[in-house]
Amino acid sequence: MIDYQVVRSARRKTLSLQVKQGKVLVRAPYYVDKKIINALVQEKSAWLKAKVIEQSQLNQQCCGFNHGDKLLFLGQVVRLHISFASRAEIFLREYSSENLKLNSELKPALKSELKQELNIVLAKRYATKLDDEQLLRMAVKKRLQDYFKQQAQSIILSKVSHYSELTQLKPKGIKIRQYSARWGSCNSNGEVSFNYLMMMLPDDVIDYIVVHELCHLRFLNHSADFWQLVAIHFPNYLQAKQWLKDNQSQLLWRLP
Ligand SMILES: [Zn+2]
Repeated sequence: MIDYQVVRSARRKTLSLQVKQGKVLVRAPYYVDKKIINALVQEKSAWLKAKVIEQSQLNQQCCGFNHGDKLLFLGQVVRLHISFASRAEIFLREYSSENLKLNSELKPALKSELKQELNIVLAKRYATKLDDEQLLRMAVKKRLQDYFKQQAQSIILSKVSHYSELTQLKPKGIKIRQYSARWGSCNSNGEVSFNYLMMMLPDDVIDYIVVHELCHLRFLNHSADFWQLVAIHFPNYLQAKQWLKDNQSQLLWRLP
């Protein structure tokens, strides 16, 4: 038996099966009998099970905001090191095998070599709440978000000013914000926005996204003219797009 959730809608005319975040979802019209839905799920059970396993493995690669978890920072895999002190702070340092002993059950997930660790020092009061896993993870996530936003402010703004000069495409406003499913955007008022999670990406991929959004100041679409303009200012854009595609599964922040 497979667990699944049924979402019914009046507009829907057909049945569809979907695996989302490791869970099976059936979308169905109102009139379809539960038995028919059940039969379909059973018929496709092998495929569904494979999908569920695949997705839960992908999730393991994403940061769960625990000590020892890995995440990408500027294209490098970094390991989270969580500690407590009277003053909260966050900093990057070289990774040493000495530190590794603190937590030997590293997940063998991300492929590239581990060179740095991101030290998150939480305020001491959290040390008394070690059994409240959820609370700790939320605190770690908040620190990470602040750090990424702060880094994004300085890195992205300087790249925008560099490429604005180069391309003569100057935005009327720049925002750094959180998006769940996109890296950047540009609107018809000539304002560009960027996702602070771009700090996970390698430097040249960040460059590509900046150039991409600036080019939208001239073409607010993905026409051939648009891509031609991108190619003029960032000749390696296909490589950057491919990197994003290849690494998609590692570019998520799973909510605790
Ligand atoms: Zn675009």
